[in-house]
Amino acid sequence: MNINEHGASIRFENCQKTFADGTLALHSLDLSVHAGETLVLLGPSGCGKTTMLRLIAGLEFPDKGGRILFKDEDVTRQPIEKRNVGMVFQSYALFPNMTVAENVGYGLKVQKLKADVIKHQVAEMLDMMELGALAPRKIDQLSGGQRQRVALARAIITSPRVLLLDEPLSALDAILRDRLRAYINTLLRQLGITTIYVTHDQEEAMALGDRIVVMDHGRVSQIGTPREIYFSPQNDFVADFIGQINTFEGPVSNRRMTLPGGILHCAHLGDGHGKLYYRPKDIEITARAGSEFGGVVHQTQFIGDRNRIWLKGVNHDLVIVDSDGRSDFFIGQEVGLRLRPEQMIRLDRQGGAAA
Ligand code: ATP
Repeated sequence: MNINEHGASIRFENCQKTFADGTLALHSLDLSVHAGETLVLLGPSGCGKTTMLRLIAGLEFPDKGGRILFKDEDVTRQPIEKRNVGMVFQSYALFPNMTVAENVGYGLKVQKLKADVIKHQVAEMLDMMELGALAPRKIDQLSGGQRQRVALARAIITSPRVLLLDEPLSALDAILRDRLRAYINTLLRQLGITTIYVTHDQEEAMALGDRIVVMDHGRVSQIGTPREIYFSPQNDFVADFIGQINTFEGPVSNRRMTLPGGILHCAHLGDGHGKLYYRPKDIEITARAGSEFGGVVHQTQFIGDRNRIWLKGVNHDLVIVDSDGRSDFFIGQEVGLRLRPEQMIRLDRQGGAAA
């Protein structure tokens, strides 16, 4: 079922948000969301994600001079009920004394549609959400995942121009979260509603986003596709926030960086002070002591498919390496490291091709 092929595009123009107590939650923001795309807002607690959502919803208004447009329509001062947005938040906010079907049909009832039309549309929606069998149940008779699906169904049944999802999966356990994430992924692509999805979980962001906006202290740190953000981060903050990164930093001379753990070759760096970035899974670790470059195992953590190993003596900070789950290293062991140039992450400060 394709409810809404043409979700509205959204444009923030010079949107700043200062709260009454003087907190500057959002610095001047200029951002376009394409019609039908899923844009993920990602960032640490307090970076302004929810504030952006609330501005789109009409629950907050930008400071003077800022504008928000849905397609070509200026909605900056429009109240929430005029904007036609669907919302799902972390706490489901369902009506506990209504059935699943009544919850899902609520928005249509408010629109004063005829009872038989509502019944038909609700049945269709419940079917699509695989909730048909639960239609007569009360909300407290549902699991967390089922409740979240009801909340989604309730939000999208009115064909909103824009769908706002604020950490909708964070209250669920890991297995359910994974399953529902895949489900939402398929659903959003089918529906084509313009969706803004807030999370602080980078895996969720990459799995769901057509594009990701990484936020830092009320500013956009980078915007791009999941691959652009992962493989060509523009700064240390983004590189570290998405997938963790090791920064090797030291004096470079003759294309060699001198570190506590040995010499690192860095053909692309000039003489002076340099930085190299490697993700934990891209560093090869060997049990061989006495290699040209290496350190000592400080801590290990077995996580099933991988061993996460913290090393000291390599760099000024601890170095994190993710090796195969079957590898076995012990604290205090001397190890060698291999860093391949092709695995290196290069910061793309221009936002174009990686320099
Ligand atoms: P989280 O992931 O913790 O939900 P967030 O990225 O969604 O965080 P926001 O809720 O947008 O962050 O908050 C951004 C900043 O604005 C924070 O510093 C927060 O304390 C502040 N803030 C939010 N609402 C208000 C308010 N009503 N009055 C004053 N400051 C506020």
